[in-house]
Amino acid sequence: MTSLANTAYDLTNKTILITGAGDGIGEAVALAAAKQGANIILLGRTVAKLERTYDDILALNNGTQPSIVPLDLQGATPDHYQQLGQTISEQYGHLDGLVNNAAMLGTLSPFSAIDLEEYQQVMQVNVHAQLYLTQALLPVLLKAPNPSVIFTSSTVGHEGRALWGSYSISKFALEGMAQVLADEYKHKHLRVNVINPGATRTAMRAKAYPAENTALLKAPADVVDNFLFLLANDSIGTTKQRLDC
Ligand code: NDP
Repeated sequence: MTSLANTAYDLTNKTILITGAGDGIGEAVALAAAKQGANIILLGRTVAKLERTYDDILALNNGTQPSIVPLDLQGATPDHYQQLGQTISEQYGHLDGLVNNAAMLGTLSPFSAIDLEEYQQVMQVNVHAQLYLTQALLPVLLKAPNPSVIFTSSTVGHEGRALWGSYSISKFALEGMAQVLADEYKHKHLRVNVINPGATRTAMRAKAYPAENTALLKAPADVVDNFLFLLANDSIGTTKQRLDC
């Protein structure tokens, strides 16, 4: 990671859960949000990576209190998410922000060759798990004064592209979910938005484009500002929007 965000977005004392917080964009958003004063709940499946983010946050030495939730979105059931909501309610009282960031790419292939088992896995992680998690956390989000939910999409989440099969389909579904939820709460205090990070130097990008010159790509730390904006009170009134980085 080359740099952290240097913005005015104040997240002091906000409690924010970020999925996929051990690597790539999720890791960068976790660090940047902690730097702005947030207590980050780091959710992901590889504990060693989450511990690395946790240690990096502690090294900021700014008094925020991160915690780790090891959870594989592939195998977790709605019950797991309900228990998580209960735990957050008991430990933090409310949740100010939820960043649905974790996703899997799957295999790029022609439509005729989409592996149906892998299609189910991609939809489970990129869509179903995010519905289960967001639904289970709604009660604890609605207890916050100005809660914010972010879904992380992609350019292929609003324009289908050849060979991007399961991933593209999943991101369209995700954007639909975000719009449905945003519309239901448009007259209430919960805001719901989508971010498209754009091409960013991460493991997922390297899997999709193994031959490209990664030096030309944005670093994860370069795309955090839209996340910080949507998590901060600066974005009160912004809902049902799609922000491109
Ligand atoms: P990475 O592959 O670098 O990171 C993805 C994160 O999600 C990792 O922490 C990974 O955990 C976690 N994750 C994956 N599957 C699961 C699972 N089953 N359970 C729990 N956690 C899981 O990806 P990016 O940082 O690039 O992507 C972040 C978001 O940005 C995604 O939604 C992606 O679709 C989107 N995006 C990225 C772009 C890019 O160019 N990088 C462009 C457009 C959108 P682990 O490390 O343990 O596998």
